[in-house]
Amino acid sequence: MNDFENPDFAAATALRLIGPDAANWVPDRPGIDHNVMLVGGGQTGSALAFALRRAGVGKVSIIDAADDETTAGIWLTAARMHLLRTPKNLSGPELGIPELSFQAWYEARHGQAAYAAIDRIPRLLWAEYLSWYRHFLNIPIRYRTNLIRIEPADGCFRLHLRIEGRSIVETTRKIVLATGFTGNGGAYIPPVLAALPKNVVSHTHDSIDFAALQGKMISVVGAAAAAFDAAGVALENGAAAVHLFARRPSIASVPITRLRGYPGAYDNYRQLPDAIRWHQAIRFRDAGSTPTVDAIQRAVAFPNFHLHLAAPWHDASMDDGQIVVRAADGTFRFDHVIAGTGYFVDPSARPEIAGFADRILLWRDKYRPPATEEDPFLGSHPYLGQGHEYLEKIPGQAPYLRDIHVHNPAGFVSFGLPIGDVPSMRRDIPLVTARISRDLFLADLDSHEQRMTGTIQADFPDAIYASAVWKRPD
Ligand SMILES: Cc1cc2nc3c(=O)[nH]c(=O)nc-3n(C[C@H](O)[C@H](O)[C@H](O)COP(=O)(O)OP(=O)(O)OC[C@H]3O[C@@H](n4cnc5c(N)ncnc54)[C@H](O)[C@@H]3O)c2cc1C
Repeated sequence: MNDFENPDFAAATALRLIGPDAANWVPDRPGIDHNVMLVGGGQTGSALAFALRRAGVGKVSIIDAADDETTAGIWLTAARMHLLRTPKNLSGPELGIPELSFQAWYEARHGQAAYAAIDRIPRLLWAEYLSWYRHFLNIPIRYRTNLIRIEPADGCFRLHLRIEGRSIVETTRKIVLATGFTGNGGAYIPPVLAALPKNVVSHTHDSIDFAALQGKMISVVGAAAAAFDAAGVALENGAAAVHLFARRPSIASVPITRLRGYPGAYDNYRQLPDAIRWHQAIRFRDAGSTPTVDAIQRAVAFPNFHLHLAAPWHDASMDDGQIVVRAADGTFRFDHVIAGTGYFVDPSARPEIAGFADRILLWRDKYRPPATEEDPFLGSHPYLGQGHEYLEKIPGQAPYLRDIHVHNPAGFVSFGLPIGDVPSMRRDIPLVTARISRDLFLADLDSHEQRMTGTIQADFPDAIYASAVWKRPD
């Protein structure tokens, strides 16, 4: 293959032109295994690993509980849409190096015209691109490695890991939770479904056996994109009928985050006063999450798809092996229900951080909204610092929290975006990288001062210019 036939030629050239990676400048500390532990090997963990490497921060480890890259992250698991929901032209994990972008990767393989012809990025291609990104940039991810518990220790963290069935403790100075939507909470099951037997309830986050739903009466609760995607897949797998229940009278909600997507608002969002950030979050909650047009069309194409608007469930019980639902618009019987009801945020629900979750500053501790804007769901989000770090509820009680950076959607109220999404990458990956670099540098200031003020051998001897040195005539 010559250079022009090699689809990786431009990317390889770009890496050559930006020069070698910086050498690790972080001094080793006795007894510390890692400078940074990236928990989660999805797109966020991968991009952060690359950014930290370029910043010269060595001893970075990336772990993921999943078996391998096909089951890590959401793209080949909980995401069921055909096309990414985000526009194709947003910058993502390439971190400012165009040749590492999805567009460059795709055009190198299929040509510019093919890229121009796609509307949004096909999900499976995005997963393929991310796999290429990891392998091309040689980002090693330790799969089957589950972080069970973070134990704050003296000047570091002891990480209790489960690696392929074995319990192991490793130590690190910094942690980034690149753990996705469930990373500071979990999949939300509304109370009306909670009493139903587990075998008749799934959440869109679960790995659902859709083939087993063939010929069954299915209900989907919720009207955001994941709910419509699940309805579409159930119908494609031969469900007898799918009934989707929305609380809203209309699902044509307004994508209000687009209003604040311009650079001034996007780049400076974290600087906004609490009241404005809270009000923006409330507006987003009120507008509801928007399904894409193609997700709606995919379900609506089936005559056995039925949309129930302004139809919250009042109660649900079991009768003769079926779910009997009393909704606002009638009583129905189903074999299975899929909750497309999103995620909750509650650090105390995560075993990794539960031991000190009560010390984490939350929005409800920091900001008291006007009565018309009270919202316990938003109030339970962590109130994060400028480098995405946890802050202390009571200053001085848990100073180690500043070394845990939250790079998952729990940062939504603080930063105005579901952190980890493609739109957040351009802004937040460099920011967290810079903060980690700064913190590690300042924490070793004595050592760096010595290094910077130490003696260094001259690059060349005086002899090379000695013959030209002006000598005052005697
Ligand atoms: C259905 C759905 C559709 C979406 N569509 C889009 C879209 O179109 N565009 C967009 O920009 N965003 C979309 N998102 C948001 C999406 O989650 C992110 O863009 C993307 O997955 C974020 O990548 P991530 O690496 O931050 O997290 P994830 O992809 O969720 O990866 C997190 C990883 O952390 C690992 N992990 C978690 N806890 C632990 C632990 N204790 N120990 C070890 N490993 C752990 C998990 O195994 C997982 O692999 C969607 C989300 C969902 C749920």
